[in-house]
Amino acid sequence: MIDLDGNSVEEGMEPSSEVPMHTSVYKTTDAVAVVHTHPLYASTLSAVVDELPAVHYMVALLGGPVRVAPYATFGSPELADNSIEAMKGRFGAILANHGATTYGDSLAKAYTRSIYLEWVCRMYYQAKLLGQPNILPDEEIARVAEKLTTYGQTVPETS
Ligand SMILES: [Zn+2]
Repeated sequence: MIDLDGNSVEEGMEPSSEVPMHTSVYKTTDAVAVVHTHPLYASTLSAVVDELPAVHYMVALLGGPVRVAPYATFGSPELADNSIEAMKGRFGAILANHGATTYGDSLAKAYTRSIYLEWVCRMYYQAKLLGQPNILPDEEIARVAEKLTTYGQTVPETS
């Protein structure tokens, strides 16, 4: 356990190497929880694209198309800065040649966003194998985002 400056406040395990990124998200958003992962499909796309487009309406759960933050060494202040920049107006970002980070005002929301980000990355990857995917317009993502806020905070299963 650490404080927002990255100082340990409790004896125990070593904190994540990504302390600068986690604390930066807490400092610059209303995050109550931050989830950082190295999921296969988001990591795969991170090496190829600059943004996960709105290939499925559930990108609205992330706030819209998800940007890929430029690469920087893991644990570095540069990666934290790049992540925060990529997350503007979003609830997550893909990290180039690395992984993904999401946040929320609860651990459940941050985690759900992490799961959905990976699911949409996988869907985009699969759609690209078949051809050029149709991308939803910004207006539709805004409409879905509005619907999700009145959806009882319930999120459907990914299966
Ligand atoms: Zn990482």
